[in-house]
Amino acid sequence: MDFELSDEQRMILDYGSKLAESFDRKQWLDYARRHEFPEHIWRQMGEDGFLGLMVPEEYGGAGLGMMEMSLLMEGMADHGIPMQHLVVGPTMCLAHLARHGTEEQKQRYLPPACAGKEVWCFAITEPTAGSNSMKITTLAKSADDGDFRLNGQKVFITGSDVADYAMVVARTTPFQDAAKKTDGFTLFIVNLNAPGVTRQPMDMSIVIPERQCEIFFEDVALTKADVIGEVDKGFSILFDTLNPERIILAAMLIGLGRYAIGQAVEYACERQVFDAPIGSYQGLQHPLAEAKTEIEVATLMTYKAAWAFDNDRPAAEYSNMAKYYAAEAAIHAVDTAVQCFGGNAYTHEYGIFDLYPFVRMLRTAPLNREMLLNYIGEKVLGLPRSY
Ligand SMILES: Cc1cc2nc3c(=O)[nH]c(=O)nc-3n(C[C@H](O)[C@H](O)[C@H](O)COP(=O)(O)OP(=O)(O)OC[C@H]3O[C@@H](n4cnc5c(N)ncnc54)[C@H](O)[C@@H]3O)c2cc1C
Repeated sequence: MDFELSDEQRMILDYGSKLAESFDRKQWLDYARRHEFPEHIWRQMGEDGFLGLMVPEEYGGAGLGMMEMSLLMEGMADHGIPMQHLVVGPTMCLAHLARHGTEEQKQRYLPPACAGKEVWCFAITEPTAGSNSMKITTLAKSADDGDFRLNGQKVFITGSDVADYAMVVARTTPFQDAAKKTDGFTLFIVNLNAPGVTRQPMDMSIVIPERQCEIFFEDVALTKADVIGEVDKGFSILFDTLNPERIILAAMLIGLGRYAIGQAVEYACERQVFDAPIGSYQGLQHPLAEAKTEIEVATLMTYKAAWAFDNDRPAAEYSNMAKYYAAEAAIHAVDTAVQCFGGNAYTHEYGIFDLYPFVRMLRTAPLNREMLLNYIGEKVLGLPRSY
């Protein structure tokens, strides 16, 4: 067993850190407060070859894997920059297209997306189905000529305000007509500027540049060329998208947790109250030490999940554990940092409290803590299902 990163992996982690330092969290927060996505960073990452980390070289990527993508995210988040676009576009959509797309799809869509010229988002959540994705009702009805008409609604779709394309999970067989509840799903490439698509930004209370939108599909024309994988068999390849989502979010969370602890340590060494640095008081020191330990434990699980995915081993167990534990560790880390900063935590100058709503949201989304624990309880431990 080897815990060392390769030179290339170290370079990717450093690239993320340097990019985040050159941009810095203060500027990021300015964009976040305006809910404006800093497109120039995206373009820069495309030009530098980092958006296509998980895409083969012949389609404009770097031919690397989940581990490298996680390290890029971790490097950025270590400096307080959690880029959600990197989750939904390059990690979920581009990597998925590279694994499951047709040759035509890969040639058409991957090179411009890797270069940062076209932006992708991922849409599965619906207002009525919620965590029960089996019950989505967005329907792509097929016609005799093999084409489809898409009708339905998605909600909370990150980055869809600026995206050109969405990878949309739809039913091609309604739930009630499917032989098994996992049958009847199909993944589609949907042009968000096509007739019949409407995007409505949502008014969210977390401070991030990326916006969430409701997306309405009204008789959107799709063809067989827009299908990723096989019609009705989308569920079998869906987890190639959802496991990476969990792993990269775990990487984001460990980075943010480390950033919060780093800021708190710096502050706690400088700030003197009762004639001693507040960091010397064990009421702060021990929670910081605990939080640091939890973040490093979460890091190991995240790397293990990425390793499993990259080596075609079953990755769901580790991905779910990594996302669950990283979210809890990051929430604890940020909460501890908020306590260290006292009143200053709530000022824009320090920007520490701004971390809290975001990491807290990641206990709920994309898959909430309870569903992650349900998975571990049922699939890993073999306990009976209650719902
Ligand atoms: C900021 C943000 C960004 C998002 N981005 C995207 C995106 O890009 N694409 C996308 O498709 N979706 C996205 N989502 C949606 C996200 O994945 C869902 O919010 C999430 O899956 C939870 O679904 P829900 O909100 O409908 O909660 P519900 O399903 O209504 O669940 C509410 C709560 O009930 C509990 N619960 C539900 N079922 C069970 C159960 N069986 N056992 C125990 N407890 C249970 C959980 O505590 C859960 O938090 C985003 C959401 C947010 C907040």
